[in-house]
Amino acid sequence: MNCKICQAALPDLLLGSAASANAAARAHIATCAVCARELASLQATLSLLDTWQAPAVSPYFDQKLAVRLRELQSAPPAGWVERLRTRLLLNTNRQFRPALVGAMALLLVVGGGSFGIATFPHPQPVQASAAVIDLQLLDKNEQPLQQMDELLQQNASTDNTPPQS
Ligand SMILES: [Zn+2]
Repeated sequence: MNCKICQAALPDLLLGSAASANAAARAHIATCAVCARELASLQATLSLLDTWQAPAVSPYFDQKLAVRLRELQSAPPAGWVERLRTRLLLNTNRQFRPALVGAMALLLVVGGGSFGIATFPHPQPVQASAAVIDLQLLDKNEQPLQQMDELLQQNASTDNTPPQS
């Protein structure tokens, strides 16, 4: 086992999932200082993560949010000139990006689509020649004709048999 394989197996080793590769990885770690250091640092990181506590949400979060929402809702609506001005002033073009992307995609579809339609050769509907059509008709009629032949042969054979009286 080389260091690359061993270090790829380190997470499995740490998370304790039993695998046959683990024994080989442990054997390699016993002899390789680099991989042993890697394992130790991963173990330290995991133990640090175990001690980390997610900060508790403030118990007044909902109330504060509701108050702010009510403030904004009760504020006098700005005139459309004011709204346009602030939008243009504070604009990062971000809200226009989806529209721009949509327009470009539409352009690509329309332009690329029509380009593809215009340039790709369309398979012409195959015009069968008269001979081919005749052959197809013959093929279709072959079975009834065969049956007709058989009937005629049977008829002929019964006609040719001398009367049995
Ligand atoms: Zn190694």
